[in-house]
Amino acid sequence: MRCPHCKNKAFIRSSEALSELTRKQYYQCSNIYCGHTFTAINI
Ligand SMILES: [Zn+2]
Repeated sequence: MRCPHCKNKAFIRSSEALSELTRKQYYQCSNIYCGHTFTAINI
């Protein structure tokens, strides 16, 4: 997964199960000048 702002690599910081088939994943951009955090639903 890449940061939607700066296209740098983003790392999964945390994740939680929404159901047996879906997970919500919390990403943080590895670029310290950006620092964007975002979530993604992984099916
Ligand atoms: Zn970024």
